[in-house]
Amino acid sequence: MNCYAVFGNPIAHSISPRLHNLAICGLGLDDFYGRVCLQDSSQLTNVFNKLSLKGANITIPFKEVAFAKCDELDQNAKKIGSVNTIVKKENKLYGFNTDAPGFMMAISDFGKVQNALVIGAGGTSKAISYILQSNGIDVDVVNRSQNRADEFKDYNFFSFDEYEPKSYDLVVNTTPAGLVNNELPMQETTLNSVFSNSKFAFDVIYGRQTPFLNLAKQKNLQVKDGADMLLFQAVLAFNLFYDNSFDLDVIKGYMKEAFTL
Ligand code: NDP
Repeated sequence: MNCYAVFGNPIAHSISPRLHNLAICGLGLDDFYGRVCLQDSSQLTNVFNKLSLKGANITIPFKEVAFAKCDELDQNAKKIGSVNTIVKKENKLYGFNTDAPGFMMAISDFGKVQNALVIGAGGTSKAISYILQSNGIDVDVVNRSQNRADEFKDYNFFSFDEYEPKSYDLVVNTTPAGLVNNELPMQETTLNSVFSNSKFAFDVIYGRQTPFLNLAKQKNLQVKDGADMLLFQAVLAFNLFYDNSFDLDVIKGYMKEAFTL
């Protein structure tokens, strides 16, 4: 029996155990996926080894720590600087970032995207900006502060003060604005101008109609929340745990049930 877990703090709210255990049950595997509320980031690999885990998912605030602790990294993780999936093989820890390809799979319902505005400059923005750009999409990144400008040297980076609205195929909110309040991620007038000339809006927040998505809908954009991104990063992570031996659609079919329970 192989054991897996998601590490984070807080972690009680995570639906990863439900997603992964539904796929484990559906595929008739004799394995189990749990959750670990890690208090001390320096203990990540100790706890992983103590629990004899075969693999893990890593969420806020440990993705950068996981990146530093892995022996080998995939291309996405290397470029983004964070790891959300760890697989142990022959005593080595392999680190992957499935948030980025999970996001690309989630926006595949939208039509052709040639340029995008990414709002926010945190870890999720880094993953999304990187994967958009590496798929040939022009990316502008806008953030409320200049704090993280250095980490976005490879992109057109603007603080709110510098930013002039443009038209985009895709506008993505990667900030937590609207998660537990009614805030928009940037000034309403600026967002209104952007939405007036854009096609698709994506919010990484899921399970909630955020003010960002509501405003986009009013402006007749096609909208999507972050549920599919969460689902697809889990589908990809699950298959990495099992050496890519399953069909992604089959895993997805089992995991999708987690959103209807
Ligand atoms: P970070 O803390 O790394 O970054 C947050 C960014 O948002 C920063 O640039 C920050 O600006 C900006 N920000 C924070 N609050 C506000 C606000 N009220 N208005 C405008 N800008 C704001 O967070 P993460 O990137 O790790 O996570 C962001 C969100 O993504 C979370 O809500 C998380 O739940 C969600 N998420 C969803 C996933 C999914 O699968 N759907 C996967 C991963 C994350 P500054 O630099 O000035 O501080």
